[in-house]
Amino acid sequence: MGEIKRISGPLVIAKEMLGSSMYDVVKVGTAKLVGEIIQLRGSDAVIQVYEDTTGIRPGEPVESTGQPLSVELGPGLLGMIYDGIQRPLELIEKKSGSFIGKGIDVPSLDRKKKWSFVPEKSLKKGAAVAPGTVLGYVQETELMKHYIMVPYGVEGSITILKHGQFTIEDKIAEVEQNGKKVAITMLQKRSVRYPSAVKRKFKSEDPLITGQRVIDTLFPVAKGGTAAVPGPFGAGKTIISHQLAKYSDSDIVVYIGCGERGNEMTDILAEFPHLTDPKTGKPLMERTVLVANTSNMPVAAREASIYTGITIAEYFRDMGYNISIMADSTSRWAEAMREISARLEEMPGEEGYPAYLSKRLAEYYERSGKVESLNGAKGSITLVGAVSPPGGDLSEPVTQGTLRVVKTFWSLDASLASARHFPSINWLNSYSLYLDTLEPWYQKNVGEEFVKGKAETMKLLQREAELKDIVQLVGEDALPESERVLLIVGRMIREDYLRQSAFDDVDAFTSMKKQAGMLNIMLMFSRLASDAVRNEISVERISSMKIRSEISRMKGIKESEFEQASKKIAANMSLEFRQIMKQESSAGEGAAEKVKNG
Ligand code: ADP
Ligand code: MG
Repeated sequence: MGEIKRISGPLVIAKEMLGSSMYDVVKVGTAKLVGEIIQLRGSDAVIQVYEDTTGIRPGEPVESTGQPLSVELGPGLLGMIYDGIQRPLELIEKKSGSFIGKGIDVPSLDRKKKWSFVPEKSLKKGAAVAPGTVLGYVQETELMKHYIMVPYGVEGSITILKHGQFTIEDKIAEVEQNGKKVAITMLQKRSVRYPSAVKRKFKSEDPLITGQRVIDTLFPVAKGGTAAVPGPFGAGKTIISHQLAKYSDSDIVVYIGCGERGNEMTDILAEFPHLTDPKTGKPLMERTVLVANTSNMPVAAREASIYTGITIAEYFRDMGYNISIMADSTSRWAEAMREISARLEEMPGEEGYPAYLSKRLAEYYERSGKVESLNGAKGSITLVGAVSPPGGDLSEPVTQGTLRVVKTFWSLDASLASARHFPSINWLNSYSLYLDTLEPWYQKNVGEEFVKGKAETMKLLQREAELKDIVQLVGEDALPESERVLLIVGRMIREDYLRQSAFDDVDAFTSMKKQAGMLNIMLMFSRLASDAVRNEISVERISSMKIRSEISRMKGIKESEFEQASKKIAANMSLEFRQIMKQESSAGEGAAEKVKNG
């Protein structure tokens, strides 16, 4: 038992702490605030406190728990809403009123609820088990089997494996380890600071399908991959993170609201419980775990929220699920590191951030990946981090540190956002380094035509940008018709394909099938329009074609009606192009006639 020596914001220095270790969780002061030892200096310990430290005083006791900062794992996790140190927000609110009281000790998982545990059939008495071995499962939600795995540190042979209704603290199995009987429950704890062990990591060849056209078509992220979404305030980082949480084809989503305004988190808390998963029709919360640490909560807990989130994700990944994590915003976490570092009087690095900023970011993103877990199941964690560079300046340290490690970059653009082009992902400077590894998946699952089409689309957009530069200088009239027509096509792709409303029920999510269909139509338009121009049709005539408005309405067509509708659009398009060619040629003949007769 030590004693508070000094308090500096979220940092507390405690004396007489000999015997405690780095990363031990401690209870600080008479209020028993939760903290973690982040430095040992002789017999002093420097403690990062995850709760508001106002009101505690030097001389108050500090007690080490001897345990590292850990999360509780087991049935009951899905649908939970936690604070940064995994306290259920709902429960703490009940216990302490509408704000989070200090030193509140509430279990992360329900201790009383009984779950129906079904043992793994192949495990007979005497079977050898090791960390990760699946002992059985609980059907946690209608769609999700929650596998119960042997926790770390337990290895031996099964002596008991039960079947029936249990709480997470009841014994469901017993393992004989070196002559000793070890009881196993469905509740396990994992330290958050270290990545969970896996057998191996391997390259992922499947994309995370998000239903967001600009992402799935042009800048996809692999399942198990990493992506950064940097953008200035108001550019759409939070909305994109929400869209991915709602629509990505992940088995489980961990959403970390880190240091952003409370009302955004309230939006999620209010909205998510009422949403249904478009693919399964089940409540979205059944596959979601929310970790909420808003700007009014203690700064140090931002860091805890990131580690809590990733550790929960690793646990589900080890069962063989595909998890995605959205963290909004990693910049607030970095700012918390900066504040703590300054209080520790560490030598500041760039812009006051600690020198280890890049290392911490890299270690976090390293915990992504597609893996074979200890029990042989294959699962993945996809990490998407929002970054809020002050003033949108991408050269700042957090953005740079992130870009060094992530492989997908969705660059949100203030000028697109102010033109209400959402998602404001800039197609010219965003990138995905997964294009090559994902191509076979797209070939097989969406088709050759789409793979060619998306390459053509990217080329068209780049060419359009070059032409727009020229138009800026010399005006559109200086361009040949064959290039002016590209301006029409480019604009069509931008406005009718890349632009996608998160607030329109149909437009918010587009399946790969519909994406391929929409793109097909637009590229068909592109080819027919270029042909027409070659046949002396004027760009003005093409620009006034009726089919353009039909194309622009495609995004609003329901998935179930799209196939039929797209056939009709294609037919109408062919017809209209034939008509204008015919008019042109008869007009041409008419003119020739006049010349002859005149
Ligand atoms: P940030 O988190 O980058 O500050 P937000 O995600 O809160 O920005 O977005 C700001 C606003 O932009 C939203 O309130 C919304 O009006 C608009 N917006 C962003 N993305 C979309 C979208 N995909 N569809 C429609 N509107 C959007
Ligand atoms: Mg935001």
